[in-house]
Amino acid sequence: MVITTLTDIIGHTPVFKFTNKDYPMPEHSAIYAKLEYLNPGGSIKDRLGYYLIKHGVQTGKITADTTIIEPTAGNTGIGLALAALSFHLKTIFVVPEQFSLEKQQIMKALGATIIHTPSDLGITGAIKKSKELAKEIKHSFLPMQFENPENPAAYYHTLGPEISKELGTKITSFVAGIGSGGTFSGVARYLKEQNSLIRLIGVEPEGSILNGGKSHSHKIEGIGVEFVPPFLSDISIDGFETISDQEGFAYTRQLAKNQGLLVGSSSGAAFAAALHEVQRLPAGSSVVTIFPDTADRYLSKAIYL
Ligand code: PMP
Repeated sequence: MVITTLTDIIGHTPVFKFTNKDYPMPEHSAIYAKLEYLNPGGSIKDRLGYYLIKHGVQTGKITADTTIIEPTAGNTGIGLALAALSFHLKTIFVVPEQFSLEKQQIMKALGATIIHTPSDLGITGAIKKSKELAKEIKHSFLPMQFENPENPAAYYHTLGPEISKELGTKITSFVAGIGSGGTFSGVARYLKEQNSLIRLIGVEPEGSILNGGKSHSHKIEGIGVEFVPPFLSDISIDGFETISDQEGFAYTRQLAKNQGLLVGSSSGAAFAAALHEVQRLPAGSSVVTIFPDTADRYLSKAIYL
């Protein structure tokens, strides 16, 4: 394959099948994980970055002198920065201090400016700061993944149809992590339109509020919320799985050791939740989940130690 821009190879990622030969689950059941960490920027957010920038250009909101500003834990920044290179645009990302150094270095390598906000203000602090910057900087465009309906739309139009084409009618449940909620709600809406019987299970770390818990810090990165994402209101969700850091990281390590899948901790958490789901369903069920990003960007956080 010869390409001239990396945006050409975003999406169409492989699906990994786990059976009861790999992990305990009822006979003839399976977990299917979409390997989104194999996107060129290392995460599912390459889809979003490209979709948001392309959409902004097509609708005239982004022009040649636009600066993209976005609050991000890192992966959306990398996805936006990668797409911005194809359109020769400047990028500024507002990142809460605690997020992985590797992600920040990658964003910088892709030409972005990073602005830090204090860890204790969480993503809410980064959102506030981004809005202030957008007022100060001329010709700025704030995609605002946490509010922009084009976020779930990006997944409704790309990831949803891919999963549906690859696995068709055999899907019993869709289980995925929730950060902005874009991936979960976009894919869930698409799959539910194909088969109204599909169960929808959201995944959060302990320290996130979707199951009624109190907000506190957690080590699993990329998922977990301090407020209910607006995108979740228009789909009927069957339940949320709250996964501890300990369980999420244990599966992250097992996926590397057993299958060679070098994925981040939100993938370990998604896998734990998918396993809980398949174990409570009858034999012959199929659970689909997503592995959003690669392990490389968390090595300084000792994910394998
Ligand atoms: N996993 C990782 C590693 C992420 O960076 C993100 C996005 N923050 C997610 C999962 C969740 O994706 P979404 O924002 O679409 O809910």
